[in-house]
Amino acid sequence: MATRVKPYAESAATFIPERPTLEKVRDAAKGCRACWLWTLGTQTVFGEGPRQATVMFVGEQPGDQEDKAGRPFVGPAGKLLDRALEEAGIDRDTVYVTNAVKHFKWERAERGARRIHKKPNDSEIRACRPWLDAEIALVRPRVVITLGATASQALLGKQFRVTKDRGTPIASPLAEAVFATVHPSAVLRAPDPAARAQAEQDFIADLKKVARHLAEHGHAQRLRRGRAAKTRTETRAAKPPRGRAAQGELPLAARGRR
Ligand code: SF4
Repeated sequence: MATRVKPYAESAATFIPERPTLEKVRDAAKGCRACWLWTLGTQTVFGEGPRQATVMFVGEQPGDQEDKAGRPFVGPAGKLLDRALEEAGIDRDTVYVTNAVKHFKWERAERGARRIHKKPNDSEIRACRPWLDAEIALVRPRVVITLGATASQALLGKQFRVTKDRGTPIASPLAEAVFATVHPSAVLRAPDPAARAQAEQDFIADLKKVARHLAEHGHAQRLRRGRAAKTRTETRAAKPPRGRAAQGELPLAARGRR
């Protein structure tokens, strides 16, 4: 019987460098071939933000503009996120933004040259997960916020429903609290201006709950200090451990060695 040849590594764990730092992991991700999406996207779009970020947002995957720029949340959804953060009183410069999947999955529009977003499937999300685990382990945000169903279900389980449990803190080993809300691109897709305005207000309300949670848990000062911390964050080695991580290294679980 012919042996099935697996064309891809099927897990990014094999690409995670030894003694990883955020910079080393970001560099390694540029050459990831763990699933076929590297053939489709222009480049790996890794997360971005201070290494001491208090808050980490996790979206689904980069969009068309992010794919071209090589940076997450720089398109219309990112601009909406910026506005909502400002409204909620969360400094964007203290926030790390990333995606569950690091390459843009798309298909060509029937007419024209437009690239249409395609939802990543379970095996693609699974293959990419070690990069997200590495980001969480190295940044160690106090709060993780999942944006939309794909990121929420990737981190909180397939049964999770954003519509039911958005805006409430969820206990998780990933951080002190995980919040889920809609993806800003869903706000942009609202069917009419009134629905869109309402969706945006609901999104801002969820972020205000995050801001309140941070203040109530003593992280307001970290938020204010975040801007100064930014300059030294991207190149620093890992922070001193808070229990589970050795300095500069990921927990083994985050390297796919559970
Ligand atoms: Fe690697 Fe993720 Fe890109 Fe797939 S989508 S090739 S797992 S970085």
